[in-house]
Amino acid sequence: MGNHLTGYRCVVCGSERSASGIALTCEACGGNLDALYDYEVISREWSREQLAADPDPSLWRYLPLLPVDSVPDRKSIRVGGTPLESLGIIAEKMGLGSLWVKDDSRNPSTSLKDRASEVGIRHAIEADKRTIVVASTGNAAASLSALSAWHGVNAIVVAPAAAPPAKLTQIVQYVATLCPVAGSYDDAFDLSLKLAENRGWYLRSTGVNPVMTEGKKTVAFEIAEQLGWKMPDAILVPVGDGCIIGGVHKGFRDLKAIGWIDRIPRIIAVQAEGSSAIADAVARGGEILPVKANTIADSISVDLPRDGVKAVRAVTDTGGAAIKVSDDEILVAQHDLASSTGLFAEPAASAAWAGFHKAVENKIVRGGENVVVLITGSGLKDIPAAQKKVSIPAPIKATEEGLNEYLSSLD
Ligand SMILES: *Cc1c(COP(=O)(O)O)cnc(C)c1O
Ligand SMILES: [Zn+2]
Repeated sequence: MGNHLTGYRCVVCGSERSASGIALTCEACGGNLDALYDYEVISREWSREQLAADPDPSLWRYLPLLPVDSVPDRKSIRVGGTPLESLGIIAEKMGLGSLWVKDDSRNPSTSLKDRASEVGIRHAIEADKRTIVVASTGNAAASLSALSAWHGVNAIVVAPAAAPPAKLTQIVQYVATLCPVAGSYDDAFDLSLKLAENRGWYLRSTGVNPVMTEGKKTVAFEIAEQLGWKMPDAILVPVGDGCIIGGVHKGFRDLKAIGWIDRIPRIIAVQAEGSSAIADAVARGGEILPVKANTIADSISVDLPRDGVKAVRAVTDTGGAAIKVSDDEILVAQHDLASSTGLFAEPAASAAWAGFHKAVENKIVRGGENVVVLITGSGLKDIPAAQKKVSIPAPIKATEEGLNEYLSSLD
C-alpha cells in the first residue's frame, strides 16, 4: 500500500528530483522540497470506504499518502488519532456555525511533533539509518527521543540550554543524547546540519527534511476524516518555522488531488508579536527576513523560519491570513482555553486560541462560519510560563473552620 512517492519539487525554483534516497533541500537553489505522489494510482487503489473500515486509529491508516514502503513493526504506541472536540456552546456564544479544537497534545510525547518523528523514523529505518539528529526548541527533540526509544534507534538532540526544563527532562528520561548548547535555536539548527552531513546521520530538523511536512500533514487528513470530508471554512495554526502550517496545507492539497475533498479551508497563521517573520512576510508580499525572536511561546520562537516559503504559500494560496498576538494575549488565552474547555495547552498552542479570538474580532473569521483551532502541545510542557497568570493559593489551616474562612474570603 505504501510508496507512491514519485519525487520532490523545489518550492522556490521548481526543480525536481527523484524519490530515491534521502532528499533534503534543492540542489539548484537550496529551497525546501515538496513531496510528489502518484495521485492517480492512489485514488484508483484506495477509497474513503476502505479507510473507514481500517481499525488502526494511528496515522499509519494513511500509509498510501506517506513517503515510506510499509508501517513500523512496533506501531502500538499510538501517534495521531487525536480527538477533534466540538465546542458548541462557545461557537454559539461567538456567533459561529461550529467550532472544533484538534487536540494534538494527546500524542505520546504530548505534541504534534510526534507525527513528523514517527514518519521520519520509519523513513530513516527504511534508508538503513539508525542514528537520527535533531535541532529543536524542545518539542521536536522530546518527540524524537520518545519515539526513538520505542523504535530502538539512537536520537542525538541539539537544543538551546534555555529550553523549558520539562522538555529537556523528557529528552533525558527517554535516554536520547542531549547536547544542550549555550546559544539560540538557530545556532542549534546550524549545528544539526553539520552533524548530519559530516557523520551521515538522518536529519530530523524541521524544514530542511521534506518528510517532516509529510508526517505533519496527517493532522489535516484526520480533521477531514473526522468531519466526514466536509471542509470547515477556516483553520487556525500556530506558526514558528512554518512546517506545521505547511503540513496542514499539504494534507488538504493531497486530499483534493485524490478527489476526497472539494475545497481547502482558509489557513490562518498565528504568530507571537515577538517572533513574526512569517506574518511580516505575508504583509510585505512574500519576502522572508529574519527577526530577533523574543516570546514566552518558546515553540514558536524563531529568528529565521526554516519552512517559510511553505508557510507563506499556505496562507496566500488559501485566501487565509496571518495574525500576531502578544505574549500577554497568549497567557490570557491559555487560561481562557483551560478554564472554558478543560484543555491545558502550552503557550505556543495557546497562541492559536488567542489568534482565533482576534480573528473573530477583526472579522477575519465571520459569523456563521465553521472553524477549527489546532492545539499543538500540552501546557504541562512549560509550568513556569503557565504560572504567570494564575497562582497557587497559600496553605490554610487543615480544619473545617480554616476552610470555611478561606472559602468565604473568596466571595
Ligand atoms: C513546533 C511547534 C509549533 C510550531 O510549528 P512550526 O512547524 O515550527 O511552525 C507550534 N506549537 C507547538 C506546541 C510546537 O511544538
Ligand atoms: Zn530550487
